[in-house]
Amino acid sequence: MALYAIALGSNRRHGRHGAPARVLAAAIAALPREGVIPLTVSPTFVTAPIGPSIRAFANAAALVETPLDPPALLAALKRIERAFGRRRGQRWGARVLDLDILLWQKGRWSSRRPVLLIPHIGLAKRRFVLDPLVKIAPEWPVPRIGTVAQARARLTRRLAIHRSGPGSGP
Ligand code: AMP
Repeated sequence: MALYAIALGSNRRHGRHGAPARVLAAAIAALPREGVIPLTVSPTFVTAPIGPSIRAFANAAALVETPLDPPALLAALKRIERAFGRRRGQRWGARVLDLDILLWQKGRWSSRRPVLLIPHIGLAKRRFVLDPLVKIAPEWPVPRIGTVAQARARLTRRLAIHRSGPGSGP
């Protein structure tokens, strides 16, 4: 068995499940059918859209336990995405469901077939990933940064500096 942290996101209603936050709850409920047991689920965050999408996003993170290795877990998450009718090729468009592997108990993973990088490449750059994750796994190690809590602190500091702009005081 191995522990993973996964990210869940949605910004489009699902015909049966409803609003994005409900889609995430349904996705969590679908995990055990793939041999993936949710242990801890973060609160759901509703965040403003990024890029030219006019929709809000619902985001959450979960700690899961599974016998699957990283490629097998990725394949399982893709099957769930497909079952929810996710449309490919719309990077910033409407997504019924987006599931990503954030962290793996055994550290790093890097493969080309399938294309898979753990920790997820966007982990340390995205508030919408770190905000839910820090609620459930603040002490989880993040290579080269320290912990999830430190990654989030670093990002919020950087965003604050970016927002205040050059020459705007101490
Ligand atoms: P996206 O559509 O942005 O979610 O990207 C999905 C693709 O990114 C997948 O088909 C994977 O091959 C690749 N990928 C690389 N690293 C990861 C990861 N840690 N979790 C999920 N997908 C990943």
